[in-house]
Amino acid sequence: MSSFLETLRREFGGDIIEPGSAEYETARRTVLIVGSPAYVLRPKDVRDVQAGVRFAAASGLALSVRGGGHGFAGFGTNDGGIVIDLGALADVEVLDKERVRIGGGATWGQVAAALTPHDLAISSGDTKSVGVGGLTLTGGIGWKVRKYGLALDSVAGAEVVTADGEVVRADAGENPDLFWALRGGGGNFGIVTAFEFAAHPTTEVFHGKITFPAAEAAGVLQGWADYMRTAPEDVTSVVSYANPFAGGATAPVEIHVVFDGDDATAAGAALDPIRRLGTVLDDDVTLKSYAAVLEDGLTPPPGIRLLPRSGFVDTPSVPAVLRTIAEAGASGTVPFTAIRSVGGAVARVPGDATAYAHRRAELMMVTTLVGPEAVVEAARPGVEALWQRLSPHVDGAYANFLAADSEEAVAAVYPPETYRRLAAVKRHYDPANLFAANHNIHPQ
Ligand SMILES: Cc1cc2nc3c(=O)[nH]c(=O)nc-3n(C[C@H](O)[C@H](O)[C@H](O)COP(=O)(O)OP(=O)(O)OC[C@H]3O[C@@H](n4cnc5c(N)ncnc54)[C@H](O)[C@@H]3O)c2cc1C
Repeated sequence: MSSFLETLRREFGGDIIEPGSAEYETARRTVLIVGSPAYVLRPKDVRDVQAGVRFAAASGLALSVRGGGHGFAGFGTNDGGIVIDLGALADVEVLDKERVRIGGGATWGQVAAALTPHDLAISSGDTKSVGVGGLTLTGGIGWKVRKYGLALDSVAGAEVVTADGEVVRADAGENPDLFWALRGGGGNFGIVTAFEFAAHPTTEVFHGKITFPAAEAAGVLQGWADYMRTAPEDVTSVVSYANPFAGGATAPVEIHVVFDGDDATAAGAALDPIRRLGTVLDDDVTLKSYAAVLEDGLTPPPGIRLLPRSGFVDTPSVPAVLRTIAEAGASGTVPFTAIRSVGGAVARVPGDATAYAHRRAELMMVTTLVGPEAVVEAARPGVEALWQRLSPHVDGAYANFLAADSEEAVAAVYPPETYRRLAAVKRHYDPANLFAANHNIHPQ
């Protein structure tokens, strides 16, 4: 080990953080999980990433890669292994009016802040502190998803350090198999040190939430889904139900909306059908910059756990799913549920163009348990019972909201044909499975 470490210290220009050092307490943890790694490496450039990957391969220690540190499964840290923390690779460079190069460790807040002065934006997620790397490599469902697709649909190319420590480019012309796999296959294939994105022109947007009484949930949910099916793609919307920060089971139904444009008349026409769904309790939709739409994100206090579970809903199953959720709401047994309208530009991308496997879904639903470990565990059987009732109508899982790392969980993310194709790419670029701390694709 000591000779590998000597080589690392010679080749690595960034910070090497070990237990006992002043920075270790913050370096050991992600937003959600506290680990106890032996080394946290903070590369300053791509050569440092190469040195870190070679050190990890030679040492035989487990390797975690950390982008923004928001992964629910906690892959961004470990016990006794190596963490490569990409946080310093956060440059955002506007190449021209349509293309942006973004460091693999940037967060979406950094991206939005850098692009807003150029009147540009990228379809991303809803939270500033979430990393570009983790979110993009497995999807990216945010406020422009119906208009521009997933975050990964805007990726035009990537610079990747592969398991042998080499730097390769992946795009439609160069290493197209790797380019395909990176768009949905997560961190399995290497460390993305920079993404090249197609950016989209943006103005200020209308954003806010329109709330309805919980008692009207059944009609509001169904009416919302019916409207979103054919709504203009400028509208993206998420329903929050039983929000624990707004009263839990008795919380009003919140319909969060973005209208992607600054034309008040067009926004009114597009959002009024939502306002007419029931008795509006509150409506705080206003015009703001896209950067201001993104939430800051929060680091839960120690001991607080977040346990999400997700599934996708095709059009024929929408009524049954929404009815089941409203019934659970009426009986006071519904957990915090977010229902995201997808479709639109997501559904226009051919199913085999990327490794993201849920193009046909109309909705994605996510339940999240939040609280101390004991509270989450106590509520878990009830949530599992709800998913059991939903199971004939819900399919798959969204890797970005997957806390489990079992083979069964991974099988819900990738249908067999997608998995086989990913495994072939994995065999080529990472035959020894160095990048295993992720929703893992086994090379064999
Ligand atoms: C508060 C919160 C809000 C969220 N909102 C949304 C949302 O609106 N939409 C949505 O789609 N998802 C959302 N998510 C889910 C989010 O996309 C995932 O948690 C994602 O994994 C976070 O990425 P990260 O880089 O911050 O996390 P990390 O934990 O750092 O990364 C997760 C994994 O991704 C891989 N990885 C990260 N960066 C790289 C890289 N540069 N190269 C190679 N591999 C890399 C590694 O395997 C790493 O372990 C949210 C999560 C949270 C906690």
